[in-house]
Amino acid sequence: MKMSKLFVQTLREFPNDAEAISHKLLVRAGYIKKLTSGIYSYLPLMQRVISKVSKIIREEMNAAGAQELLMPFVQPAEVWEKSGRWEVYGKELARFLDRHGNKMCLAPTHEEVITSVVSGTFTSYKQLPINLYQIQTKFRDEIRPRFGLLRGREFIMKDAYSFHTSQESLDEEYENMAQAYKRIFERCGLETKMVQSDSGAIGGSVSHEFMVLTSTQTGENDVFYCENCDYSANSNHAISILNINETDGAKYGYSEKKLVDTPNVKTIEDLAKFLKIDSNCILKSVFYIADSKPVLVMIRGDKDVEETKLLNALNALEIRPATNDEALEYLGCEVGYLSYLNVDTNKVKVIFDKSAQGMKNFVIGANEPHRHYVGCNFDKTPEFVDVSLVKEGELCPICKKPLRVTRGIEVGNIFQLGTKYSKPLGATYTDENGEEKPFIMGCYGIGVTRTAAAAIERYHDEYGIVWPKEIAPYHVDIVPVNADDSEQMEVALKIYNELLSVGVEVVLDDRADRAGVKFKDSELIGFPYRITVGKTIKEGLVEFKERKTGEVEKLTPVEVVEKCKKLLLN
Ligand code: ATP
Ligand code: MG
Repeated sequence: MKMSKLFVQTLREFPNDAEAISHKLLVRAGYIKKLTSGIYSYLPLMQRVISKVSKIIREEMNAAGAQELLMPFVQPAEVWEKSGRWEVYGKELARFLDRHGNKMCLAPTHEEVITSVVSGTFTSYKQLPINLYQIQTKFRDEIRPRFGLLRGREFIMKDAYSFHTSQESLDEEYENMAQAYKRIFERCGLETKMVQSDSGAIGGSVSHEFMVLTSTQTGENDVFYCENCDYSANSNHAISILNINETDGAKYGYSEKKLVDTPNVKTIEDLAKFLKIDSNCILKSVFYIADSKPVLVMIRGDKDVEETKLLNALNALEIRPATNDEALEYLGCEVGYLSYLNVDTNKVKVIFDKSAQGMKNFVIGANEPHRHYVGCNFDKTPEFVDVSLVKEGELCPICKKPLRVTRGIEVGNIFQLGTKYSKPLGATYTDENGEEKPFIMGCYGIGVTRTAAAAIERYHDEYGIVWPKEIAPYHVDIVPVNADDSEQMEVALKIYNELLSVGVEVVLDDRADRAGVKFKDSELIGFPYRITVGKTIKEGLVEFKERKTGEVEKLTPVEVVEKCKKLLLN
């Protein structure tokens, strides 16, 4: 490819609507162009990266025994109504009416359709297991599309679905996919961590996510992991062991239930200061509205609610913190002094977080303004559920060593679905005894465009993208320093043609621009190798530079071609 012909425009400045470095660099280096919020054109450079990621995925999925198919992007409501997700998917599912008034949607995922594809086609246990996958555009009307390709509304996903006659067979395929995923991300140049996760809207019980660990905020997930053992989990799923010995209010002299005035002391922090106690001796009340119903969560003062866990515990679809007015309406008291004491549990659901287990002589709101109780104890032991966010330093649930936390970008995930879709959709096979049974299913996703963006989050420097060579749009950029110098151009062209003929993916920067401009673009776009043809050609030498290390070698044109062949072709 000649640079003068390549459909690319690099920008001098970063776009001002971008936060994530991958978003900034993809726009500035001319990979993507925004059409509207969360929706981008993938320009030729990007399309090449996408093709490479897709090729790696295809090769590994095929090698793992899966078969590729392609399902419709536009789907009728019918299958979604059958699975029950037409109701529960919420606003992320883009719905519309066709010209005949039929309810339709744009595919955010394909569990329903794959189930109807397999159903009635493979009907015997003898034909199972089977794993089918596709690489396709999805649409999700994300509430917060941001970070460019990391969280778009329209994006490309690889999704695979497997069908089994037993849990053992599903377990086997789950492990097979986990291994395939490891290889896929490795080949993309990415180190990933496989962590336990929540199954969310997809449903099912067992699931894991593949995380690219980052230190930046653009990793939207917190991953807790143990340095001593294998335990690691997304924060929406992580559990920990708490030290309960320190949470007895008696050590502050509060061993009898007593009402105390706490004027204008509304926050846990202020309350702890006011009473000169540790916040873990306070039983905090957090008030929510879940699917329009009030829910009061009682949790240890130093802990926070993990909303995904709470959603699951309530089996609810949506939650939000309640307003002060709602606190007055349902609990008769303003926020800051709430508690479960004297709450009518027919009207307000009360949930006790596990962190409250073992608390004694605690401090709690009095459900009247400017007052708290000290020295409180549970009258009868409530049922405790885990709805709290783990904190760094709490103990590993497996080996009891302190947990650590890091940020991660989820690039893929694997789920055991069981019969969640096959049952409601009536998708069955006949077993050895002639009995009809619902398929046992698994599903396996990889964000193709997100993986490319995650690679940039991981590999970049102040000058631009530093692509792992396996997914770089081109391998080599040849830069003649002076395009007017016919000798330089001739040598550059010769190297270019030789590399092309052996199959190295190469760009020749034949533009009339200054060398400095070309070097800047070369680094911004992130070609793994640059060959500079300049004055040293008089001595028969060109410069070979590695983007990642900045290392430069002087080589003859013949040597440089050999070097590229060795590095890039195998
Ligand atoms: P997230 O928690 O990040 O929203 P998800 O659990 O909704 O992801 P899945 O429905 O399982 O994701 O989709 C499979 C893969 O598709 C994810 O692992 C991710 O890599 C990718 N993906 C999901 N949503 C988006 C998006 N809005 N933009 C780009 N890629 C996405
Ligand atoms: Mg999502």
